[in-house]
This record gives sequence, structure tokens and C-alpha cells, in this order.
Amino acid sequence: MSLAPLSHTEIDETIAALDRMAHNLWWTWNQGAQEIFQELSPRGWQNLYHNAVAILHEVSRDELHARLLDPDFGRRVRLVLQDFDCYMNDKETWGRKHAPALIKNPVAYFSAEFGFHETLPIAAGGLGILAGDHTKSASDLDIGFIGISLFYREGYFQQQINQDNWQMEYYTLLNPQNLPMEPVLDKSGQPLVGVVQIDMSDVSFQAWRVNVGRSIIYLLDTNRPENSQHHRDLTRRVYGGDNTMRIMQEIVLGIGGVRLLRALGIKPSVYHMNEGHAAFLTLELMREKMAEGMSLEQAQATTKQQCIFTTHTPVEAGHDRFNKELMHYAMPKFLAQLNMSIDDLMGMGRVDPRNEQETFCMTVLGLKFSRAANGVSELHGEVSREMWHCMWPDRKVNDVPIGSITNGIHLMGWMKGPVRKFWQRKLSGAGALSANPTRAKAAISLEVEVNSEDFWKKMDDNNFISDEEIWALRYKLRRELIEFARRRLLIQGQRLSQSDFIAFDQLLNPDALTIGFARRFATYKRAPLIFDQFENVVKLIQDTKRPVQFIFAGKAHPRDDEGKRYIQRIIHLSKYSELKGNLVFLENYDVHVARQMVSGCDIWLNNPRRPLEASGTSGQKAGCHGCLNLSILDGWWREGYDGTNGFAIGDDSHPMSVEEQDSRDSANLYKTLTEQVIPRFYERDAQGIPRAWIKMIRRAMTTLVPKYNTWRMVQDYTRKYYLTK
Ligand SMILES: *Cc1c(COP(=O)(O)O)cnc(C)c1O
Repeated sequence: MSLAPLSHTEIDETIAALDRMAHNLWWTWNQGAQEIFQELSPRGWQNLYHNAVAILHEVSRDELHARLLDPDFGRRVRLVLQDFDCYMNDKETWGRKHAPALIKNPVAYFSAEFGFHETLPIAAGGLGILAGDHTKSASDLDIGFIGISLFYREGYFQQQINQDNWQMEYYTLLNPQNLPMEPVLDKSGQPLVGVVQIDMSDVSFQAWRVNVGRSIIYLLDTNRPENSQHHRDLTRRVYGGDNTMRIMQEIVLGIGGVRLLRALGIKPSVYHMNEGHAAFLTLELMREKMAEGMSLEQAQATTKQQCIFTTHTPVEAGHDRFNKELMHYAMPKFLAQLNMSIDDLMGMGRVDPRNEQETFCMTVLGLKFSRAANGVSELHGEVSREMWHCMWPDRKVNDVPIGSITNGIHLMGWMKGPVRKFWQRKLSGAGALSANPTRAKAAISLEVEVNSEDFWKKMDDNNFISDEEIWALRYKLRRELIEFARRRLLIQGQRLSQSDFIAFDQLLNPDALTIGFARRFATYKRAPLIFDQFENVVKLIQDTKRPVQFIFAGKAHPRDDEGKRYIQRIIHLSKYSELKGNLVFLENYDVHVARQMVSGCDIWLNNPRRPLEASGTSGQKAGCHGCLNLSILDGWWREGYDGTNGFAIGDDSHPMSVEEQDSRDSANLYKTLTEQVIPRFYERDAQGIPRAWIKMIRRAMTTLVPKYNTWRMVQDYTRKYYLTK
């Protein structure tokens, strides 16, 4: 392409294409695309929290026109748009080769939450983030993939900490006009409206379409003028309200979701339930079949052949249960459509259909009417087979039909900008891309390289990448995190007009071993565990030759006072104990905060009560940034850890009593920290480089990154579950 300015027609085309690209979340995992939006309005990029659609609204047409007349900028924009086109139209994909059947009849993936990006906060935690990463890799691989969820117009809550160090929740209204979503319209151009039966009412819903590369997500929304206020509010907040609200949301998701697919003429080859929230979809599939004349038994058997189920937690509260009164209250009209008695319905959600004592369990419903089911790590598979053995009492525990596929992350989405640039430079330097002369091809190649084992194997090679380069990158990422933390803490402090002044510019030490902990503050994750060894931690922190610092973040569920007390305790320590200055808590954990932390920290701490962390994914985001895991051998880490690629707390076992486990784990945590982590980090050679530490980073990159990603995970789902009956 020449460096002549674009013609008027070209500019008009380019503006229209930019708008299309802003409405496809593909840009959130493409570095060049992000830079374009950032360059259009650097301040807006920050203030609007990286919202491409809002940026395009902020920049006038005249300004855009003028900017695109700059030959260099215009050319770069056109190149990114070309990358986008190439991506969307590529026909030589994994999916077309290995799963062509799914392109015509896609996977319908139902999930109560999806976490894609910080501007669309409709996820509460790991379950949603996983669903988002699954969607992105389904797009990269090009398997036909449709997601179904709800449009929560107030999203998940924003967290602010008050004067008493107590978590406050507030909600902001999301404006679809300013988000990468568009209304689903019928032939006459009006919103497409569907109906579900809830209590004695017909409740209408409309839908929003979110483009995620080649994948499409539909978000159902009951905020329709013809609905009562109560029903309009069903899709207001992620997991908002009580059990009544919950069951009604799940009716919209499961039953409404299937009805939307029908209205759109989509014929899925498989329905994937991401956790029990969506399990009512099986009832709608049965209803359809019976309406066409099948018997209940036939309808159940056929439905079972169409569905697969993933369970995500052994924690009892993570499995929705509804009592008979509530089921009766929420579903009478639908029951009539099903032509079924309440007792028959209750039976489908019980392990023992005739046991009147049992409540209706969504996981049981999902498991009963799926052709295959899985947990999300090997250990979680085992634990789930034990947990649900009661449903298959005639079988041995090991023959309970629940397998496992270990979770992963979408690498290109999580990898921070400087790290992408770093690898990109490395790749071009190594001549790996010389066979692909065009830039568009090269960009796609990087995405493929990043998922290949061979690429990460090169991290073991000193000629490909030197210790010095890795160490410089680590310093850069740590500094970026610390500056981010200082900015955030300044804002937090200003809001509380803190009387004891902290010099924010000096807060945290860019040379210190930085330990991060961030996730939902569910109590089994034991955020404050390390402070059980308070005296010892103080000793560590007072060692000025080998400084250590801690950064915490995370939200507690609005009704989880115990989790909020954990937050309060940590913030209290950060302000009033000897740990002040070496311990901080960052407010409002979300995808953006997560990206800063998993890249900038040296150690990613994970100390759940085993075996309750089904997989965990935040530690997987650390690897490609050279951040090492220090974790209990639970979830993914139990299979990922090999003795050379990070640190283990304790061994592959756990005592039965909670008290014993907590005291043993906190002692082991402290032991690993002092005997292994700190000495290795501070063991420097004459050039000041921690060679042994960097060796471990290399091992983590070669052994973990190519395995614990959704590129591998979605292939596993496709081969093992989507394509086989
Ligand atoms: C990755 C991620 C999670 C999941 O973290 P776990 O360690 O698996 O609990 C939760 N929330 C956000 C914002 C994340 O990015």
C-alpha cells in the first residue's frame, strides 16, 4: 500500500469498517486494533475504560475523517481492518477441517454469565471468564458456536470500600448503545420478541447480539414495556435477589434460550450446559418433542442425546436447589404446557424421584438429561464422580459417567500488550514468519504460534531468548503493575479523604518480590490464610535486604458477610499493622485489574481448601507473563505442577478436618515461601540476575502455557463431546 492519503470513498468505507470492528470483540484480543482506538482518544481510552464503541461516539465524523487523511495512521487502520477481514473470512481453519458438521449445526452453549472484557461486566467470576474464553477460542478455531445468556442491564456490582473497610456494592446502568451489542430484530425491523411462562404470566423477552470474532452470543432481556416491573427486573443483575429471582432467571435462560434459537432458525447439533443454571433447557427440548407427538420416555431419551453438561464446583452452595413450593409457584403454566404433574417434574431434579424430602436440584436435572458430563480438572472429575455416585448406585465410583476436561485460558486475550510485542519481535527475528510475507497472514500466524507447543519449547533455548531479556521484561511488567496500583490507591484514598497521608508515589517497591492474590472472596479460597502466620510474615517484611510485598484484590458476594470480613481484615492489616506499605488491597477486581496483576506479580498465590477449587484459571494467566504459581495442589495445579515449573504448598493429599487443613496449609505456605520462593528470587549472580528463578520461568512457559489454554480445551470438548454421540 502506498503512503498517499486515502480517497473520500476509501475514508467512508474505512469509517464504516471501523464501526463494524468496534462492534466485534475480536478487537479485544488484537493489539493493533486496540492501539487504533487508544490513539483516537488516549484520554477517552482511559476514562471510558477501553470502550471502542464509546470512543467512536466521542470522536466526531470530521475528526475521524481528518485523522484518516494522515497517510500513516490511515494506512495502519486499513491494515488492522485487513487483519480483521482475513480473520473473519479465513477458510483454512481447524474447525473446517476437524468439525465441519458444527458449522452448519452449531454448538449452543448456555451460561448464566460471560466475561469478555471490562466494558461488558456481566460475569461474577471464574465461571463467566471461562465461558468468555471458551467463546473466543471457539471463534479462533472456527467451530460453529452460539452462546446464550442474559443481558443484565446493571451487570455485576462495582466494589467500593468504605471508611470501615467494609465492601459496598453499587450498580451502574449499562447502555447498549455504547456497548458492542446490537438488538436482534425481526423481519419488520422491530425487536424480535419471545415469550416464556413464569408463575401465572406470559413474560416477554427480547435479545441482544454480541459478536465475539466468529462466535455469536445472544443475551436475553425481559426489560419489555408489556411485562410487569417485577418481570422486567428479572434480568437486572447477575445472580441478583433471592431464590425466587434465581429460578425465574433460569427459566428465561434455559427455556427462553431454546425458544430464541428456534425463532432464529438455528438448529444446534448439541446443547452445552455450562453449570446447572441452564438445565431447564432440557425441559423445553422435551416439551417440543412431546408437542410433536413423542411419548415422555422418547422425548427424554432424545433430549439426553442432544445435551452435555459441565459441572464447575464441589461446593454445595454452587448447586441450585428449589423446593416444591417454589417450583409450583414459578412454573404452573409451563407445567401445563409440559402436560406433566408437579411430582413428575420434581422427580426429574431428584436423585431418587420418589423421595419427597429431596429438593429439585439443577445439577441433577442436567446430569440426568445429558449424554456426557464432565468436571473441570482431573481431581475435580474424581471428586464429582464421588459426589454424584448416588445417581448411579449400581456402578463403581470410577464408572460414574462424569469425565474431565481441564480448564484453560484464551492466551491472546490475556497476554498483556508488551508481552505480545515481545513475542512478535522474537518471532519475526527468528525468521519464523518469513514464509508469510503479508502482514495479515503474519498476525494470524502469531496467534497460532502462541498456542503451539513448539513455540513455547523455545523458551528453554538461551539463543532464542536470553535470561537478561526475560528479567528485563519481568521488571517492566512489575513496574507497570506498581504504577497501576499507585494510581488506583490514590483514587481510593482520595475518596475516603484519608487522614493518615500516604505518599502514593512511593507506595510499593519495584524491586521487591511481589506476591499477588486476586479472585472472588469465597471463603473456601481462604484469602487471609497467610496472615494466620502474622508474626512470621512481619519478620519477612522487615527483611530489608530481601523485600517482599503483597497485592490483594477481589469481590465478596453481596450476601457473603464472612467474605466481606476477610476483605475487612486484610485492609485493616494494610492500614494499621506492621505490614503497612508492603500490603495493599485494590478495589473493584475485574478483568482489567486481573490482567495487571497476573502479569506484574512475581508470584501468584492460590490457597484454597482442597479439593474445593475445581480448577481455578487465574494462575494459568500468569504463565505467559513469567509470573510463577505458588499454590495448593488443587484443581489445575495438581496436574500442572511438575516440581520444576513453580511452587507447591503441601503435597497431594489433605486431612479431613477443616481446622487441621487450615493450620497445616498456612504452616506449609510459610515454609515454601521462606525455604524456596524467597531464596530463589534473591539468589543473584554477578550481573544481578536470578538465574535459577528464570530457569523456573522458562519451565513454566514450556510446560504450562501450551497446555492450560482454551485452544487446547475447546479442541478437547469438540473431539470428546461435541462430535461424538
Ligand atoms: C480469571 C478470573 C477469575 C477466576 O480466577 P480463579 O483463580 O479461577 O478464581 C475471576 N475473576 C476474574 C476477573 C478473572 O479474571
